[in-house]
Amino acid sequence: MGSRTEDAAPATGIDSEDRLRLVIEAAPSAMIVVNDRGCLVVVNSEAERSFGYTREELLELRIEDLIPTRFRSHHDGERDAYFANPDRRGMGVGRELYGLRKDGTEMRVEIGLNPIVIDGERFVLASVIDITERLRGQAAENAARHDVLRRSILDTIPFSIIATDRHGRIVTANPAAESLLGYQADELIDTSLSVIDGAPRQTYSDGALRLGDAGGDDIEWIYRRKEGELIPVQEAIVPLESEDGETTGFLAVAYDISHRVEARERMEHMATHDSLTNLANRALLIRHLDEALERTARSSLELVLVLLDLDHFKRINDSLGHHIGDELLLVVAERLQARTRTRTDDLVARLGGDEFVIVFHDVEPGAQMDRRLTDLMADVLAPVVVHGYELAVTGSLGGTRFPLDGATPSELLKHADIAMYQAKAAGRNNVQWFEPRMLEENSDRLALSAALRQALDQLDQGELSLAYQPQVDLASGQVVGLEALARWTSPTLGPVGPDRFIPVAEDGGMITPLGGWVLRTACAALAALQVQMGRSLRMAVNVSPRQMRGTAWLDEIADALERSGIEPSQLEVEITEGLLIDDHGDAVAMLESLRALGITIVIDDFGCGYSSLAYLTKFPIDKIKIDRSFVQEIASADHNAAIVDAIIVMAHALGMTVVAEGVETEAQERYLRERGCDEVQGYYYSAGVPAGAVAMVAQAIGG
Ligand code: C2E
Ligand code: CA
Ligand code: CA
Repeated sequence: MGSRTEDAAPATGIDSEDRLRLVIEAAPSAMIVVNDRGCLVVVNSEAERSFGYTREELLELRIEDLIPTRFRSHHDGERDAYFANPDRRGMGVGRELYGLRKDGTEMRVEIGLNPIVIDGERFVLASVIDITERLRGQAAENAARHDVLRRSILDTIPFSIIATDRHGRIVTANPAAESLLGYQADELIDTSLSVIDGAPRQTYSDGALRLGDAGGDDIEWIYRRKEGELIPVQEAIVPLESEDGETTGFLAVAYDISHRVEARERMEHMATHDSLTNLANRALLIRHLDEALERTARSSLELVLVLLDLDHFKRINDSLGHHIGDELLLVVAERLQARTRTRTDDLVARLGGDEFVIVFHDVEPGAQMDRRLTDLMADVLAPVVVHGYELAVTGSLGGTRFPLDGATPSELLKHADIAMYQAKAAGRNNVQWFEPRMLEENSDRLALSAALRQALDQLDQGELSLAYQPQVDLASGQVVGLEALARWTSPTLGPVGPDRFIPVAEDGGMITPLGGWVLRTACAALAALQVQMGRSLRMAVNVSPRQMRGTAWLDEIADALERSGIEPSQLEVEITEGLLIDDHGDAVAMLESLRALGITIVIDDFGCGYSSLAYLTKFPIDKIKIDRSFVQEIASADHNAAIVDAIIVMAHALGMTVVAEGVETEAQERYLRERGCDEVQGYYYSAGVPAGAVAMVAQAIGG
């Protein structure tokens, strides 16, 4: 409305007021005209009906009387603002508005406002529509829609949802609950929640479910399916409360966590078991011992812990290849497991490498265990065929008893380890029981390693030396070669044999410097001896498999040859046959390179390994050294002549030279000569002697 209406008002005032009344009366909703002081000046019948007042009563009222008190002050402000600026729309627009009836009840209303001018006076025409009914219809519709939605959520949600009353009696269950539990909802309804519990659930004394302090436990729980199968679930129990805060029931919301449990169990298994053999690992062993020791301490019985270390396993691994070593460990593990499975308590563990632990429980004090262990080992270490190799393994065992030999798992293990080393030192393939004196001997072994390291660090002190054992040509009776044998005399430990210190050097990473020193020293000694004796000889050097790893060793050989000036053909390298069966091909490549240089390759200790002569033809080998154990049998009553005979015949057929070691008697020499053996060495001719004595010894033999 603008000023033009105002201008026209005097002429058309009454008319327009009458017309206004008619229009208002005909309107289908309550219409009210209010002046700028808020007084009702015109109302229609619909307004009377809506607000429950008579027209006379209404015309006595102010607009505020039709508004609930809590909105009034707000309304005053709005009205004043509205009259100040009637073009501003929106008094109450878009807000929830309420009307107040005469009887004090409220109704939801929608209000339309229009400013009008009558006789130059400003009024507001308000149309008031009671929307209570409409809202009620909408609410019902919403509620219905909501219900459908809720049902479909409940039906499709992947959680099992079970509603109970406050005593845990099932009221309803959704389809996910049905499929999780294998029940139809009808079967569950009216039964106790306990029918699906895989474990007894704590309840309040009145039978209501027990809940955590937070009012809803979120826990790992177990359900029992209709068929009896147990399923791990994650479950939350949510209390259902009435408006006055009283618990009326519960919702048990759960989902299947078998996968999670499986994964966790797998992780747990991996952390406590050895991945190769699936035996318990060290961690599980210690945990097991912690409990077992406590139990044993309360009884009058003993616990026996035995450490088993396979003999020469490193040799098998280094030479035949890791996959064969692994295969062997697997077989041993399976056999150990099978043999101890009958006694449920006993535990087998693998500590790594070729070390196993067997724990025997409830052993009578002082019981003789040796027999039992011998029987066990006879089974466990019976020959194993792996990829065509028949491996005859033996083991060294160290035993400890609780409480006698140690108080804690780690002490028992340490003492078993010391006893096991004693078994190795006593020639392997036997059992040793821990004794306190062994502690001293163990520190001796550590002392040995430290002393050897020092000897290598200060070679100029001359603790290490080489002895040279002559090799005799059987046809001529002449010394044709020498074998260099390492010797060590420690100022603190006295003379130590190579059978003792070579393994220590190998274990302690000292074999490479030691081997290099042997090579250089032997080559230099040979050069000097040849000058002294006025003729040419060969020099044999022992090389351990670990020395042959990598190509640095080839450089060392070339260096030693060059410095000494001896011919490569004068150098012999003695290796054990195990090295050849390496499947990685590194060793073979190394041997090919040596041979290309013109160096002779000798198989040492032939006959005690795993290879057949025919197998050896694949490799670049020039010479076979018959092990002294076969030589020693010659001319004795139980002599198995066939082996030595066969080695000589076959080696010759393959174009190899044959040397026999450990010849101690004339009879042995005669036998070997008759069979056509090429060379011999042994105490019959000479033990290893210092370089300075070689010329004299050679003369004595040859002359
Ligand atoms: P091996 O290579 O089999 O050496 C022969 C061993 O037999 C030597 O013992 C030698 O003294 C001994 N022997 C010689 N003739 C006779 C005999 O007629 N009867 C008996 N019963 N024994 C005899 P040694 O010097 O104690 O060496 C033992 C082992 O130590 C050697 O066995 C060899 O495997 C290793 N070894 C020695 N020196 C070295 C070395 O410089 N490097 C490496 N890697 N190993 C070495
Ligand atoms: Ca040798
Ligand atoms: Ca030998």
